[in-house]
Amino acid sequence: MTLTIRRVAPVLVALAAAAVCGAAGAQSAEYYRHLDAATRNAGSDPFFTGTLRTQWCYTAENSGAPPDLQDRALEPLTQIFDDMWFVGPRWVSQYIIKTSGGMFLIDTLNNDTEAQTITVPALQQLGLNAGVPLLGALPTHGHRDHHGGGAYLQTNFGIPIYLGSGDEANKPFVVTPLDSANLAPQILPLPDRNLTLLSTPGHTPGTFSGVIPVHQDGVQYKLAFWGGTGMPNNVPAALQYLDGTERLYALARDQGADGTMHTHPFVDGSLQHVDNIQANGRANNPFLLGKAQTLRSLAMLRECAAAKVAQLDATALIPTWRVTRVEFEGGGPTPVSLSARVTSGWGAVAGQQVTFSVNETGAACVATTDANGLATCATRPHPLRPGKDHVTVTYSGSAGLDYIDLASSATAVVTTPGRIRAGK
Ligand SMILES: [Zn+2]
Repeated sequence: MTLTIRRVAPVLVALAAAAVCGAAGAQSAEYYRHLDAATRNAGSDPFFTGTLRTQWCYTAENSGAPPDLQDRALEPLTQIFDDMWFVGPRWVSQYIIKTSGGMFLIDTLNNDTEAQTITVPALQQLGLNAGVPLLGALPTHGHRDHHGGGAYLQTNFGIPIYLGSGDEANKPFVVTPLDSANLAPQILPLPDRNLTLLSTPGHTPGTFSGVIPVHQDGVQYKLAFWGGTGMPNNVPAALQYLDGTERLYALARDQGADGTMHTHPFVDGSLQHVDNIQANGRANNPFLLGKAQTLRSLAMLRECAAAKVAQLDATALIPTWRVTRVEFEGGGPTPVSLSARVTSGWGAVAGQQVTFSVNETGAACVATTDANGLATCATRPHPLRPGKDHVTVTYSGSAGLDYIDLASSATAVVTTPGRIRAGK
């Protein structure tokens, strides 16, 4: 059950905004409404309220470039998943995916020298001279700091360099174009996995984002990446950028993305994760935020992009995306209690249906949240078996006049009521 995300009808939004904002300057009210939404959507985790809130909204809130772009220190080759490595200067880096049939690059660094002195030695460490070929590279967009090493790599290894067709012109290498006009997900097949790529114009016409499968201890996870960083300063491009954030959110939701990565790695906290892995190892991998927190992060990006549109266009009226959270009440479902609470950064989500379903049997019940956001099933799907059955509670989301409450869900195993865990 997923809520189809769509813009609320413009007339309704206009009415709601008029009611909320009155005669005050609509542009600044709308701008601050979305920045506030980014803040509320951050929740309580300091990584979200700190790093992500600052970085996702940076170019909506500041006129200059992020100071992190001045950090030219080199990060050594660092394994971040079973089959993915990170290397490069801290301001703009690259990811190496190692498939069963060879290696593939996300971004190529800034120039020939960096390709020669950073990328190639990293590839050699991963087996380039021992029969592990370089298969290709995907610069996320057509700016030099992302494709600058491409010519050197193509000249020396004959690789295809994939780039959005919108950025294809005047490149110093042969481009294998990805269709920037196709806004649906596109598959780029690698030997043992498909990359799902998404044209997200806005930062540049040819920017691509997507979802990449990786493995941790042999288990597959998926990372969503946002290919453009700085927000554009004209309305048509800013609207494209906003639309791209919404489509990446939908792709990450549909694919069940578990975390994010970014080639300007300070933007989404990737750099913090790499530092963390270098210090503590990757057993408890910081890139794996969890599906709900991954969507939370991308919803924050969406609100920052909406703020940028509102900053540029005094007439813009864009419904706010509100991240919701549904949690089982009382520590989890039991055979005698099946209740859950739905909340968001705006408080309790009242008067909304939630569905409890038993994964093993398919049995389900529906309840409506009260003024405190609490929903309790009057008749339970039974029998519920402690330690065996898993219950998933789902809130499908809803739309108001000037907001959209995003869907959320949670799953937990049925426990015995009142049972105290053995031990101290
Ligand atoms: Zn750029």
